[in-house]
Amino acid sequence: MANMSLKKNPMPAQAPDVRNKNFEEVTLGYTKETALDEAQRCLHCKNHPCMQGCPVMIHIPEFIKEVADGNFEAAYQIISQTSSLPAVCGRVCPQESQCEKYCVRGVKGEPVGIGRLERFVADWHNANAAAPAEKPASNGHKVAVIGSGPSGLTCAGDLAKKGYDVTVFEALHLAGGVMVYGIPEFRLPKAIVQKEVDGLRALGVTVATDTVVGRTVSIDELQDEMGFEAVFIGSGAGLPMFMDIPGINCKGVLSANEFLTRINLMKAYLPESDTPVVHPRKAAVVGGGNVAMDAARCAKRLGAEVAIVYRRGEEELPARREEVEHAKEEGIDFQLLTNPVEILSDENDNVRAIRCVRMQLGEPDASGRRRPQAIPGSEFEIEADCVIMALGTSPNPLIKSTTQGLEINKKGCIVVNEDGLTSREHVYAGGDAVTGAATVILAMGAGKTAARAIDEELSRR
Ligand code: FAD
Ligand code: SF4
Ligand code: SF4
Repeated sequence: MANMSLKKNPMPAQAPDVRNKNFEEVTLGYTKETALDEAQRCLHCKNHPCMQGCPVMIHIPEFIKEVADGNFEAAYQIISQTSSLPAVCGRVCPQESQCEKYCVRGVKGEPVGIGRLERFVADWHNANAAAPAEKPASNGHKVAVIGSGPSGLTCAGDLAKKGYDVTVFEALHLAGGVMVYGIPEFRLPKAIVQKEVDGLRALGVTVATDTVVGRTVSIDELQDEMGFEAVFIGSGAGLPMFMDIPGINCKGVLSANEFLTRINLMKAYLPESDTPVVHPRKAAVVGGGNVAMDAARCAKRLGAEVAIVYRRGEEELPARREEVEHAKEEGIDFQLLTNPVEILSDENDNVRAIRCVRMQLGEPDASGRRRPQAIPGSEFEIEADCVIMALGTSPNPLIKSTTQGLEINKKGCIVVNEDGLTSREHVYAGGDAVTGAATVILAMGAGKTAARAIDEELSRR
């Protein structure tokens, strides 16, 4: 008999005024009892509408059925047929606009907590059943993967399981891409990402860190001198955008990427870290996406009073709903329908305030979203000694500028066909480098698509 409760089982979490002072994981995960109860809410719909919302088409009713029956390892095996990073996606997927958006239980009440169940299953597997991966027999083919984010790790893992000799080239000193340098520990513990990377190593994947493709080695060299028969580019979109407003070069203005990298990758929040990071008294974070929420919540944890400044309204905030709610609970002030027009500084060029104008929403623009328009005479100042820009990112042009024959679109993204093949022979690409800033699950899906195509190409040889 299904559990007909209209509400999802709530996710246990640290109390807001405790967690806003530490970097430990905010949400604590379902217990076995809660997972069993939540799984009973699923109606196992024959036409499984939830699956159409999952970019990798996880067999959702089937895995939830196994959870309901207490077969957690069987549930894990179903999820891992299509997803390589369930412990990550169960935590960071924007479920409300993907799988859960289409869940029939959401018509009258809340959808089934699909993401929460996925996280439970993955954590259960990692704690109880994870057998060390075995290195498969080599098939003699060599593949290079550029970048160790979700697209690169997935592509590398899928190929390594088929016996390919895979090397992942990563510019930073740690593998994991945005999962280690961008998304904070309190949302995605780094031990989870490390486990994935260790799993790849156990499969025989070589992870060459501190290697910038385009500087340390070129794609030509990988293909012509080092014997890689195919290359996958999963180099992400890590180049931050800034506003073209007076004062943008003042001391105390920085990109969210830099701020987050110092905190997450370099652990600058720990007293023993030798990486400096600004400890603002009052921070203004400009933007409304996940990156803005993460930067604001990190600044809060460093002791700042924090305001998010976003030019559209609450409904238009692109961040995951859960992150917005968590940020509000933690005491972040949301200055919505507000746009910065100038950054003001003191006599030493240090930021002292951000001058803003109030906005109203007009007619929809090309993106279909209502265009924000300034309200004349509404200017005001927000006091701040630090301004963090979280306005979006684009792909770094380094690979494009050092690789012949790679077609790039107007936004600086690599152009690929449906198999992830670029305009250059034997070179594939996927993830944010192709789509621009998107999501972990889409990047992972692109890594899978390319791995399949590379296997088809190389196994014909
Ligand atoms: P990335 O994860 O960006 O990895 C690319 C890797 O390539 C990096 O490690 C980089 O160092 C390396 N690299 C780049 N150039 C080179 C080179 N020339 N040579 C060698 N290595 C190179 N998505 C969600 O689904 N949910 C969220 O909650 C969420 N929150 C986010 C929060 C933040 C702060 C950010 C920045 C992003 C967030 N995203 C979220 C987006 C998501 O993380 C990305 O869409 C995803 O990581 C893209 O994966 P990728 O493999 O394409 O690239
Ligand atoms: Fe939902 Fe993401 Fe899991 Fe797919 S991977 S079922 S979209 S949480
Ligand atoms: Fe279960 Fe909702 Fe999917 Fe139906 S739509 S199978 S209730 S998760």
